[in-house]
Amino acid sequence: SVDAVGSSVIPIVNKLQDIFAHLGSESTINLPQVAVVGSQSSGKSSVLEALVGRDFLPRGSDICTRRPLVLQLVQCPRRADGDVGEGDEWGEFLHLPGRRFYDFSEIRKEIQAETDREAGGNKGVSDKQIRLKIFSPNVLNITLVDLPGITKVPVGDQPSDIEQRIRDIIRSYIKFETCIILAVSPANADLANSDALQLARIDDPDGSRTIGVITKLDIMDRGTDARNFLMGKVIPLKLGYVGIVNRSQEDINQNRSIKDALAHEESFFRSRPVYHGLSHCCGIPQLAKKLNQILVQHIRAILPNLKSRINSRLVAVAKEHAAYGDVAESKAGQGVKLLNILTKYCEAFSSMIEGKDELSTDE
Ligand code: GDP
Ligand code: MG
Repeated sequence: SVDAVGSSVIPIVNKLQDIFAHLGSESTINLPQVAVVGSQSSGKSSVLEALVGRDFLPRGSDICTRRPLVLQLVQCPRRADGDVGEGDEWGEFLHLPGRRFYDFSEIRKEIQAETDREAGGNKGVSDKQIRLKIFSPNVLNITLVDLPGITKVPVGDQPSDIEQRIRDIIRSYIKFETCIILAVSPANADLANSDALQLARIDDPDGSRTIGVITKLDIMDRGTDARNFLMGKVIPLKLGYVGIVNRSQEDINQNRSIKDALAHEESFFRSRPVYHGLSHCCGIPQLAKKLNQILVQHIRAILPNLKSRINSRLVAVAKEHAAYGDVAESKAGQGVKLLNILTKYCEAFSSMIEGKDELSTDE
């Protein structure tokens, strides 16, 4: 599959994480969560799907995302020949333990069914999470959160305070300092009135963990473009903006593939001279790259702490070894071996990112 996040990302992070997993739950690397916020139908679910490279989220012109969907991407081993095929990628829901979904359209149906179970069939919204893990050789171990969009006028079974309820749900995710906010605004509405940017600003006032994502560049009013916005001239954000062209409703109805959509996006930007000088902030691959850089910076920041945790584990294992003598020897020996490998990875990682802002895809 086409996979923007996975293909530009850090195999060594996943290795570190695998090794840490052997050392117990308190020693996993917590990569930041990434949450999408914005008004209804701004293209949030479409952006997440494009980042994962698979079709599996309910999307559409109506309210589709009605419960928070916590999407944990889990990297699993690649086949010996390096190919990814049927059976190598699947999804598992927390509410359906043990059941593997290899057919991604079934995942979408289950999200819809599970949404209805909790939030009813008539546009109701609930703060109760749906938790889904996607296993794939192509993904980075990261958590993405798809959230209901802001809507102002109650419809169906929605309560009169629907807007406030949705704002509260969104804020319960983005209030955490570790949450990266993808603030999604459609380019065919007035960007200066963006719900997404307004909401992100409440919890991230200096814009240090907000990425502005501008969708629907393809359906802006004739004679207008998002150039000034993408350059941060209207509302500046430290992490900047990325302009996107997702699939339209017609594309969805015609089952246009993600691969086609990415190719279409690329040709869109190529054919619009107004965006030519801005290639660093145009397109899904650029958004993936930006996320990647942020993750690398995050890991760089936590590396000293990681090393000291490894060292104290080494000391503890050595003590255990001394206390139990022969009986524990083999177990402790294994532990030491593991920790030595881990130390090497950490060192390799530090030297890799020394002076670099991103890692290459090659191992
Ligand atoms: P969400 O409610 O924010 O999750 O938005 P969705 O991802 O469900 O998209 C809402 C509608 O907008 C769907 O019909 C999409 O096909 C359409 N859409 C999203 N992004 C774009 C885009 O960049 N261009 C066009 N033409 N349509 C888009
Ligand atoms: Mg949605």
